[in-house]
Amino acid sequence: MEKFGFTISKGRQIDYESNDRRIAEYIFEREPSFRLCIECGGCSATCTTGNLTQFSLRELHILIKRGENDQVRQNIRKCMLCGKCTLVCPRGVNTRNIVVLAKQAFQKSDEYAI
Ligand code: SF4
Ligand code: SF4
Repeated sequence: MEKFGFTISKGRQIDYESNDRRIAEYIFEREPSFRLCIECGGCSATCTTGNLTQFSLRELHILIKRGENDQVRQNIRKCMLCGKCTLVCPRGVNTRNIVVLAKQAFQKSDEYAI
């Protein structure tokens, strides 16, 4: 097929109805400070892993809350649980625990197909 030199971008609408918010609910129940995040990016700016890779904790928070989990599942293991992000968060979000809980939730969803 002849190429015209342009592509059609994938739609970026957030479909909350069909997205899977169970990972977010699992974290909200166990770590209420997750709700306090204002997506300022302070955690990503100081992140040890983020300095060396494309990993962004801020982005992962947003994707988890939207229920867009595929990218989170692929990237969450890059976190080394060093805790620097927790020290700098201006909202007192227990970011390290959020990563731990997200890993737990993915593991449970794999084991029990919840
Ligand atoms: S530093 Fe805290 S408030 Fe800012 S994006 Fe990270 S978790 Fe959210
Ligand atoms: S705990 Fe994870 S997300 Fe936080 S600064 Fe360390 S590597 Fe980055």
